[in-house]
Amino acid sequence: MKKDFSRKEIECLLNEFVESSGKNKNSDDIKRLKKLSMSKNIKFKKARKLFCKKCSAVYCNPKIRIKKGMKTVTCEKCGFVNRWNIK
Ligand SMILES: [Zn+2]
Repeated sequence: MKKDFSRKEIECLLNEFVESSGKNKNSDDIKRLKKLSMSKNIKFKKARKLFCKKCSAVYCNPKIRIKKGMKTVTCEKCGFVNRWNIK
């Protein structure tokens, strides 16, 4: 992977990631994407819901619960519970 990415290229990568639901991506790819987007101040938006905040693994069969306007997803790899508002 090359080092210099333009904002546009990174947004493109993120879109690709969301469209494929993170398939074929490992946690290293995600860490790389995270770094790239941070360096350009690009928000992950939808993409951040596709992987674990803690270990960066893409969910493949997570436990999902919806409670009081909060969605919680338990990572099947590290067991970390990721939460976000769904309002
Ligand atoms: Zn995890």
